[in-house]
Amino acid sequence: METSPRRAVIIGGGITGLSAAYYLKKQMEADGVPYRITVYEKSDSFGGKIKTLHRDGFVIEQGPDSFLARKPAMVELARELGLEEDLTGTNPNAKKTYILSGGKLHRMPPGLMLGIPTRLGPFMRTGLLSPKAKLRAALDLVLPKRTSPEDESLGAFLERRLGPEVLSQIAEPLLAGIYAGDTYSLSLQATFPQFHSIEQKHRSLILGMMKNRKEGGAESRTLPEAAKNTTFLTFKDGLETIIHGLIGALDNVRFVKGCGISSITRAGDGYELVREDGELEEADGVIVTLPAYATAALLAEAAPGAAEELKAIQHVSVANIVLAYDENDLKEKPDGSGFVVPRGEGRFITACTWTSVKWLHTAPTGKVLLRCYVGRSGDDRWMHMTEDEVIRAVRKDLKETMGISAEPLFTEMTPLLRSMPQYPVGHLERIRRVRESLAAELPDVLATGAAFYGVGLPDCIRQGKETALQLAKRLKP
Ligand code: FAD
Repeated sequence: METSPRRAVIIGGGITGLSAAYYLKKQMEADGVPYRITVYEKSDSFGGKIKTLHRDGFVIEQGPDSFLARKPAMVELARELGLEEDLTGTNPNAKKTYILSGGKLHRMPPGLMLGIPTRLGPFMRTGLLSPKAKLRAALDLVLPKRTSPEDESLGAFLERRLGPEVLSQIAEPLLAGIYAGDTYSLSLQATFPQFHSIEQKHRSLILGMMKNRKEGGAESRTLPEAAKNTTFLTFKDGLETIIHGLIGALDNVRFVKGCGISSITRAGDGYELVREDGELEEADGVIVTLPAYATAALLAEAAPGAAEELKAIQHVSVANIVLAYDENDLKEKPDGSGFVVPRGEGRFITACTWTSVKWLHTAPTGKVLLRCYVGRSGDDRWMHMTEDEVIRAVRKDLKETMGISAEPLFTEMTPLLRSMPQYPVGHLERIRRVRESLAAELPDVLATGAAFYGVGLPDCIRQGKETALQLAKRLKP
């Protein structure tokens, strides 16, 4: 007798949801279990935060623009989908990066790894820091390690090891920028667990990072070809390449877009999902891959414990503004990959990527593409302004920092409301509690995604895969 297919529903069609669907299908097929997978996406398109716009020969990312090459999940997935050849690294001639300090762009001292000095010569010579700050940072070499196993904030950790000036002038804009967060709120163990491990193993953060840099050379020999010699990778035709690749590979998966799921309840041995249009969908297992507040709303009735915990995870709203120029209109062509802006500079923009220099495929010859970011934890000025006002404020900053007063060929602004999950101190404990209470209340409903264990695209793919393998195990007859 034929067994009826196991019904799995994935909620959310971003990179986490689509990766989960891909690895679930693969595992169910490997296990020989008949299945029916459905992906529900609330908006009218798949990809979630990943959106690529092609305009006048430019390749414009409206959400994420690249991913860390050393985290293998994206490269492995690209290879499985036959897309490895489409990957590209950063321009090797755009190595210089800058920090705004006292209104001027200063070159970041070579040898900084995640904001931590690993070459003492350039660090001691940089004009970015006072002599006192450099001496304070050098104290890291002799300071004892912290013995408490409790989580602490990224800011408290870096200030303790390297002093307040290195934190505010270098580390904060680089590291907190990834989360649009506040270093004194972000959890060390959830954002940069490697710093915690280095302190425990080597005592000194600088010495430990130096050792890792040297060993990193050996590690890179095991990386796939595409990931060698570059810190970041992307796809030549834009990040949406991976989304199209996934959808193409999910030929027998049912996709429903323009219709979200509003609630999940237990029904007999399975689950009943209420769609936003009022229709019902039944499932034997579910993977939820939404922002924390949306997962909380979905689970509010059936899993109130998990929902309450998830509600406490804040999401910061940011926007990015792309400006395209004719190279001849600029007095100076940018030389490097861009700059970050410490909070203390009081600027409107938080960073600016010199996109067409960093990524050669993003602009036609003779054209320049810049991408500026606005908004971070504690600064939502842009949300109270019109698009014209935002663009005027961005152009003012570009004029005063880079001397650009030329009229752009065009601009594109992308608001991303409540898009950056914040991992506060104790985040990992909170996620453990979410998982525990969900397992007790809705055992075959698994929740994952950027609000859980990592916001980067490879982290999202890894989480989608791990969750899919877990569900496949549970769905085995
Ligand atoms: P999402 O992409 O948010 O997908 C969730 C999906 O669920 C959405 O499509 C949403 O419409 C849908 N949905 C919501 N509610 C429902 C519902 N009730 N029912 C059904 N569907 C629903 N990472 C990097 O690695 N590199 C970068 O350069 C980078 N830059 C970034 C820049 C910005 C501005 C932002 C905001 C993030 C950036 N990130 C970057 C992080 C990364 O983009 C995200 O963490 C990742 O894309 C999140 O993917 P996801 O699938 O978990 O969530």
